[in-house]
Parts: sequence; C-alpha cells; structure tokens
Amino acid sequence: MSEQQKATNITWHEGQISKTHRESLLEQKGAILWFTGLSGSGKSTIACALEKKLHDQGYLSYRLDGDNIRHGLNKDLGFSPQDRVENIRRIGEVSKLFADAGVIVSTSFISPYKADRDLARSLVLSGEFIEIYVKCSLTACEERDPKGLYKKARAGKIPEFTGISAPYEEPEKPELVIETDKKNVDDCVNEILSYLKSKNIITA
Ligand code: ADP
Repeated sequence: MSEQQKATNITWHEGQISKTHRESLLEQKGAILWFTGLSGSGKSTIACALEKKLHDQGYLSYRLDGDNIRHGLNKDLGFSPQDRVENIRRIGEVSKLFADAGVIVSTSFISPYKADRDLARSLVLSGEFIEIYVKCSLTACEERDPKGLYKKARAGKIPEFTGISAPYEEPEKPELVIETDKKNVDDCVNEILSYLKSKNIITA
C-alpha cells in the first residue's frame, strides 16, 4: 500500500514562508476538525453550518466531505478494509496540507475505526487534530435516515453498513463530543466555535 516510501533520492525542500507566517496573514491557526459519527448523526450538517459561520466571521475554512472525495481524489477506492484505510490515509494527508496552509479544515467521514482516526491524528502535531464525536443514538439516526441508507441496510441491500452490520468504534478521548439528538444545529456549532476560541485557533 502507499504508506511505503517508494521513491529514493528525494530531499525535503524548506521554503522561506512557514505555517506561522501564513497563520499571521490569515489571523487564525490551521487545524483539522475531524468529525466522526454514525451515518445521519449530523457530521455534514454541522460541518456546513460551521463553515458558514466561520466564513461570515472572516475565517478561512474548507470542508472535505465523504462522498465528494470519492468522486475525485479517491475514485479508485472502494469499501474493502484495505481501501478504507487508504481512503482515510489520503484524507489525513490532504487535511495535513490544508492545516499547514493555515486553513481550518473539516472532514466529515464516518471513520468508524479507532486505528484509522489515530493514523490521521499521528500525521500532525498535537493540538492540530481536533476529534469531534458527533454523538447520536442509532435510533435517532435511523429515524432521520436523510439518505434512505438505513432503510436499504435493514433490507440487506447494503452490506457492512456501520451501526447495522459493521461496527462503529466510539472515540475514547475525543477533544469534543456534540450530542445532536439533544441539541439543535446552532447550539452544536456554537459549542465548536467556543472550543476553537478557547484554543486560540480563532480569536473573535
Ligand atoms: P451525516 O453527515 O453524519 O451522515 P447528515 O448531516 O447528512 O449526517 O444528516 C443529519 C440529519 O439530521 C439532517 O437531516 C439534519 O437536518 C438532521 N439533524 C437534526 N438535528 C440535528 C443536529 N442537532 N445536528 C445535525 N443534524 C441534525
């Protein structure tokens, strides 16, 4: 798999402008907001609403969304265990580039396996990776069923569907837990904004 370093005789070329320079230009800190949770828990909804609020307040953020990435960068990957790992690894690497550019990048993928999330976390400095557990009961997710996927999964039409026929490993020490079956979208977004302020990622 592509974790191996294939090329030899390659050297890292350091530029004159660092992440810190870019962050001062943007007046924010680059960070990865790694949303994880069941399908329908609200990852995309929260990430979109957060992006809008950050933009309105003058912050540069960028969203990497599950299905969108599979249309391009990861179009060669399926859902086999190997491909799932490679999917997350590439997303982690892309997020790292965004964070290095000084951008607040959010990723919304179920990312059900702890090992995969830890792999993404290990790519960046501590403090740059903010794991946000979008917590919502399976019952509530299934009632929402925004894409009709639970219905299909219950009918046996989607094999290995997280929460139904494949496991979801709950985060053990996420930086944030937001409970979307207890709070509305606005309150969930405000919780994340408060966290970002408390860590000086944004200031206003
Ligand atoms: P995911 O990206 O995790 O698969 P989505 O964001 O696509 O989930 O869907 C979540 C659904 O739940 C949407 O229809 C959204 O309107 C609804 N919803 C209800 N309450 C909330 C909340 N507090 N936060 C996020 N989504 C919510």
